[in-house]
Amino acid sequence: MSPLAVYAAHDALSRGRRYPEPPPAYRSEYQRDRDRIVHSTAFRRLVYKTQVFVNHEGDLYRTRLTHSLEVAQIARTIAGALELNEVLSEAICLAHDLGHTPFGHAGQDALNECMMDFGGFEHNLQSLRVVDELEEHYAEFNGLNLSFECREGILKHCSYNNALQLGELGERFVNRQQPGLEAQLANFADEIAYNNHDVDDGIRAGLITVEQLLEVPLFLEYHREVASAHPGLAGRRLVFEILRRMINRLVSDLIVSSATRLRESGVVSIAEVRAQPKPLVGFSDATRDLNHELKTFLREHVYKHFKVRRMTAKARRVVSALFDAFFNDPNLMPDEHKQTAARLEVTLGAMGRARAVADYIAGMTDRYAILEHRRLFDPSERT
Ligand code: MG
Repeated sequence: MSPLAVYAAHDALSRGRRYPEPPPAYRSEYQRDRDRIVHSTAFRRLVYKTQVFVNHEGDLYRTRLTHSLEVAQIARTIAGALELNEVLSEAICLAHDLGHTPFGHAGQDALNECMMDFGGFEHNLQSLRVVDELEEHYAEFNGLNLSFECREGILKHCSYNNALQLGELGERFVNRQQPGLEAQLANFADEIAYNNHDVDDGIRAGLITVEQLLEVPLFLEYHREVASAHPGLAGRRLVFEILRRMINRLVSDLIVSSATRLRESGVVSIAEVRAQPKPLVGFSDATRDLNHELKTFLREHVYKHFKVRRMTAKARRVVSALFDAFFNDPNLMPDEHKQTAARLEVTLGAMGRARAVADYIAGMTDRYAILEHRRLFDPSERT
């Protein structure tokens, strides 16, 4: 591993854990964070959660788990090149989607609508809730007791009102400050991963074609390069040769542009990084525009495709029906969740009951949600 820059997250300067623990003997603090994330229940569930395509529709599409792994390895390359903390950036990326509901964004939107009168539902905040509260692994605390820097990275967005309730972790949203650089780069690694793998999955699903993609300047540029280096190359190999070049371009540009910004800013500590008015990690203007055009194409041709919309419409109905049924009668939930709902209702009223229902639903995998829906609404299904 490369040496750490002065503005990287250093173990010794960590703002620590909510419940102090002795330092690990053979690992760094951030390795311990990463290992706890990998051992968590929520992490294992990512394998059965949808990224864009429902995973029972085909075994070859990305799931939240394979997406998270792609994000983490992209982040490690960027972190290493910028002399930032690779392990911390990996930990943040592996945890970044732990709070996602079943059925991708459709599930999250549906749950947010159901929770409108009860504080709403944000998947970033839910990822934090998973690692701070919901995981039940340790004798002495709820959650995984991760380091401040890792929790800071997991909380990518947060509304002003929610930030006010998060104490020291919410301060940066109130004061408009930045997270550490490992958190900043994790956002870009996420975006680079999904923009490119959604092209691959979109082609595989038959929603888009290589010919259509030629209207995307970034794709066109590397299509030309691959066609001249390997005339006649077609199919899967052609697509992958283009995508690997696109990923390489975005990652390289991010490294070079961020290194320049870091140098020009003159920051010499993570505290100075946090105090900056803007993030220091970012693309050059030209590459940002190319990336934006790719995103726009995906939105129009993949995410809004009628086949994806049918799937998301179904998902919304399943999530809303589950929420209504459990909220109106918490006794329909398994004992553990029924008891949590009763406990939270004592202190928080209907808001507490709703939160317990949302936690139960958000924790479901796609196939478990479909099964629960059948058990509740299909009289011929066993309960
Ligand atoms: Mg993601």
